Amino acid sequence: MRTPPSLLLAESESRHADAEWSRHALEVIQNDQRRSADTHLLRLDLPALVGIDLYLKDESTHPTGSLKHRLARSLFLFGICNGRIRGDTAIVEASSGSTAISEAYFARLLGLPFHAVMSAATSTEKIHEIERQAGTCHLVADGKGIYAAAEALAAELNGVYLDQFTYAERATDWRGNNNIAESIFEQMSREPHPVPAWIAMSAGTGGTTATIGRYIRYRRFATRLCVADPEYSAFFEAYADGNLQATCDRASRIEGIGRPRVEPSFVPNVIDRMMRVPDAVSLAAMRVLSRRLGRRVGGSTGTNFFALCVLASRMKAEGVQGSLVSLICDGGDRYGRTYYDDGWIAAQGFDLAPHERALEAFLAHGQKLG
Ligand SMILES: *Cc1c(COP(=O)(O)O)cnc(C)c1O
Repeated sequence: MRTPPSLLLAESESRHADAEWSRHALEVIQNDQRRSADTHLLRLDLPALVGIDLYLKDESTHPTGSLKHRLARSLFLFGICNGRIRGDTAIVEASSGSTAISEAYFARLLGLPFHAVMSAATSTEKIHEIERQAGTCHLVADGKGIYAAAEALAAELNGVYLDQFTYAERATDWRGNNNIAESIFEQMSREPHPVPAWIAMSAGTGGTTATIGRYIRYRRFATRLCVADPEYSAFFEAYADGNLQATCDRASRIEGIGRPRVEPSFVPNVIDRMMRVPDAVSLAAMRVLSRRLGRRVGGSTGTNFFALCVLASRMKAEGVQGSLVSLICDGGDRYGRTYYDDGWIAAQGFDLAPHERALEAFLAHGQKLG
């Protein structure tokens, strides 16, 4: 009997040697997620703001202490499902610290070596956290050098550069799958004003604001997205002037947000408004909020909280009622030697007192801000 002629021109097969490992790795990450709870949406008690409700989603309660826990999980899932991360892959990342802490956690869970490339200005608390998770830290003098250094290290180790600044916006399922936006709207659903008038957030990779902005559009909510930028960052100029080549020569003093270049994950088209907040004002707001909550929050949470209060103050002035939501990005434990040290604040030339007074007056009596 003759074998029939092949109707194919050619055929090729790539044996995916690590299929079993990737099934195992996905299960490990999914089990870790199953053991985790969603983060709280805190409602602030502010009687002076009649009919205006402020909420903060507390991302500091993730196992690795910041909102980067979500991003790290997404980047590992993305890398494994794309076949880039395998059972013996060295993982490399460029980070200002928080992402590296969360990624070190997941790398350790999977038994993969992890290397963080960071600016030499990164706080010792963050470096210790990464080392505690068995990660290796590589410090470079110039913060702008972390991208190229991480790429070179990954090539040298034959590993994978996770590249949060490029992949944050696409590694997250922006239409749902319990992303941060879906969680916020679900947690708000039985509140007096279930659809927030505003969500305020700052940008590091820009990934969180991209997810929130896309989700708002996808679900056709009337919510507007306000992005707050610190003093030294390229994002504001990119948004206000449409200049995606904008750069900023000085390193941001608010850890986690503000970048020297416009990161690929920053999506200006889904942002309704941007504000630039002076660093001293961010740190004053951080301290005011920490006193209200009875525990310390990080600097970027101060930036977020101030933007939230400015929006609320304007709503009050216009006689508009509604809800506003922002994020506690991380706790203040990592900043004991900087933002919470009066000597450090004075050495920076910051005078926080007048800003703290203005914010306290707004929160206590509804006195107009700014
Ligand atoms: C990363 C980060 C942000 C900003 O989040 P992105 O999604 O990267 O824009 C804010 N605060 C802290 C502490 C962060 O680590």
